[in-house]
Amino acid sequence: MPSPNEAVAALLREYSELLGLTGGDQFRVRSYEKAARAVGGYPEDLGALPESALTRVPGVGSSVAAKIAEYRRTGTIKAVDDLRAKVPPGALVLSKVPGVGPKRALQIVGELGITSVGELDEAVRGGRLRGMPGFGPKSEERILRGIAIAASDAALREALGSLAPDATADEICAVLAAHLATPGAGESGPGHGLIRAEDLRGDLHTHTDLTDGTVSLEGMIAAAGARGYEYYAVTDHAPNLVMQRMTDEKVLVQRDQLRALADSTGMVLLHGSELNIAPDGSVDWDEDFLGGFDITVASVHSSFEQDQATMTKRFTVAAQNPRVNIIGHPLTRRIGRRPPVQVDLDALYAACARTGTALEINASPHRMDLPPEHIAAARDAGVKFAIDTDAHSLADLTNVRYGVAAARFGGLTPDDVINCWPLERLLEFLSKS
Ligand SMILES: [Zn+2]
Ligand SMILES: [Zn+2]
Repeated sequence: MPSPNEAVAALLREYSELLGLTGGDQFRVRSYEKAARAVGGYPEDLGALPESALTRVPGVGSSVAAKIAEYRRTGTIKAVDDLRAKVPPGALVLSKVPGVGPKRALQIVGELGITSVGELDEAVRGGRLRGMPGFGPKSEERILRGIAIAASDAALREALGSLAPDATADEICAVLAAHLATPGAGESGPGHGLIRAEDLRGDLHTHTDLTDGTVSLEGMIAAAGARGYEYYAVTDHAPNLVMQRMTDEKVLVQRDQLRALADSTGMVLLHGSELNIAPDGSVDWDEDFLGGFDITVASVHSSFEQDQATMTKRFTVAAQNPRVNIIGHPLTRRIGRRPPVQVDLDALYAACARTGTALEINASPHRMDLPPEHIAAARDAGVKFAIDTDAHSLADLTNVRYGVAAARFGGLTPDDVINCWPLERLLEFLSKS
């Protein structure tokens, strides 16, 4: 029996997905997705809050609060039921297969009456998609690859989902070792000198409610301080991710606020940003403005479908940028939702090692990116890593153990991970000199 928080989060997420599938307004799609994250990450039991207090949950406005109240009264949310009834069965499931997407899913369901991934697989192999407008050999190939990724993602997700909510890094690592096809050094048992959760001195990729996080700057910093970190970076989204509505003014005001908080915390606060790697490898802002940040994470948030040569060039250009410190969630996969981008991994590792750019081990259990099975090879190529939560809520900060598990699986020691280093050594690395 899921908790009320989980049940409501699942319904809000489904609502957001259904809105996206039916061509709903992108801002509404995003705001329900954000509300789902906020509710899922809220530490108190939503079932026990007085109704008037629901809007005090960060990220929950009046219309979401009304839906939560309705769920508490009736056990359901009518708007979700109504929208679900309008979408043909199977369309939502198919739309999540990498390479299919909403438009094609509706087309496939409408024209072929397919309602499951298994049926889709058979249909592609039987050539039944051929001749449908907009489908060629390339899309057949992409869909088959998507189905394979969806299957392995489902297995990984199930394995991670089977863990207790308070599983330790070691327990998570054991699941990875049992599950992943290409075991790293972690399979050789409790290795000597492997990284432990307590070796981490800080988190270098986190968000606040200035962009799509659900908690204020003060709230995130207080929670990080309570974890005993020595340093902590705030890296809200940069302007080119238009949906997040970041501006120069907003980020500079945040910098002042962060500097003002420095005295009240025992941590060193780093002001950063999560930059967007454009299709040509460039990032937000000019070099001067970027020089005002203590740290930057640069991530791919668009044009995921580039061919391997173009994508590899894109990452290489970003790593060569003297203002880029960490490549965030490098393969941009979302387990069960988005396939990894196609990039020449050896070239990516070489570029990072050569330029002093860290690769992120994104600790979100929805991402696990860099995927654990690639970590050992990256380390052997001379890459340094940052284990980050990419936290959007207070609960997300505890995901760090998934990143530590992945790093242990890959055989990493604290020396391989820049946020295990003393501040001085970290700052030297961030200067890229
Ligand atoms: Zn990102
Ligand atoms: Zn992020």
